[in-house]
Amino acid sequence: MLQRCIVDRRVPQALLLTGREGAGTIALALAFARTVNCRTPHLSNHGVAPCEACSSCIQSASLQHTNIKLIMALPAGKADTEEDVADDVLDALRDIIGGVAEDPYTRVRLPNASMIRIGQIREVKRMLSLSAAQEGRRVVIIVNAEEMNVEASNAFLKTLEEPHDDVTIILTTSRPERLLQTIVSRCQELIVPPLSDEIVITTLVERGLCSEDEASLVAPFAEGDIQRAADFVSEDVRTLRASALALLRSALRGKDYRNALSDAAAEIGDERSKAKAEATLSLLAVWLRDAFALALGGPNVRLVNADDRQALEKFAAAFGSADLLSVITVIERAARDIQRNTSITLTLLTAMMDIRVIIARTRVSA
Ligand SMILES: [Zn+2]
Repeated sequence: MLQRCIVDRRVPQALLLTGREGAGTIALALAFARTVNCRTPHLSNHGVAPCEACSSCIQSASLQHTNIKLIMALPAGKADTEEDVADDVLDALRDIIGGVAEDPYTRVRLPNASMIRIGQIREVKRMLSLSAAQEGRRVVIIVNAEEMNVEASNAFLKTLEEPHDDVTIILTTSRPERLLQTIVSRCQELIVPPLSDEIVITTLVERGLCSEDEASLVAPFAEGDIQRAADFVSEDVRTLRASALALLRSALRGKDYRNALSDAAAEIGDERSKAKAEATLSLLAVWLRDAFALALGGPNVRLVNADDRQALEKFAAAFGSADLLSVITVIERAARDIQRNTSITLTLLTAMMDIRVIIARTRVSA
């Protein structure tokens, strides 16, 4: 759709790309920026592609193009614009830009980043009021746009309302519901869907991160997100799954479950890694989906955790009639809470107690 807009010279002024970075929101924004700025683009029946050889393409490949600007949340502190930030933040910012140029599926986030501030939006406004340093189309990419604070959002809305020649502002977000509705309604929204398992597998292998067998094991857990898949590879998905199952088992023990459950939750919490705790929960959800698929569909259903079939069958026989939907909802809520910086141990404990209650209810009714 974007290629068609470029070919027809109906390039949108404001785009909202909704999806995960690891599914390609920023990659798409950068590909768009490179294509609209290419001096000798290749046109075909299917659309348009950058030549990758002209001076503009070379500058955009390394993200050194004066027409392409990435805005992201800055760390908490006094600095209100990129010009005021401390040298170490500036270095980190340069590293991130370099990293994105190399891998546009990477996560774009400064350490301790808190929000996008009004100073940064004013900077964009000032930049757009000056004439461009070179021909082409200026593209401003606001990464994780939901991180604009209230002042920044209001200032940004004004900038969106002003007409600019040859400018496209692109917002990326995985949480569009957190943006001002007035901002959303002024953008053309495109959903960037999760990548297919096949693409995730090929990419992991091409990048030399793991063998095809390992990639096939990891991909279904990654929910179409290359970054998530890469995290699972480096963390060893089987070890994470083992600790997820230890957590579940401890919650379903007899009367003496409390100590075992506290230990299992603390073991995950003590690592102080939000990403790891989230990954553990999402593996638990996938495993439970398999167990219930077995309980409902019988032995021929296709399992993500096919290598753990025995344990799944045992679980399905014992708890197959439990309320799956509620259990998964509890797990998803816990993962969201952990993202919001609640205590990992406490969140896991609460969630597992809830799951224990839900499953006990099934036992009683059975
Ligand atoms: Zn080019």
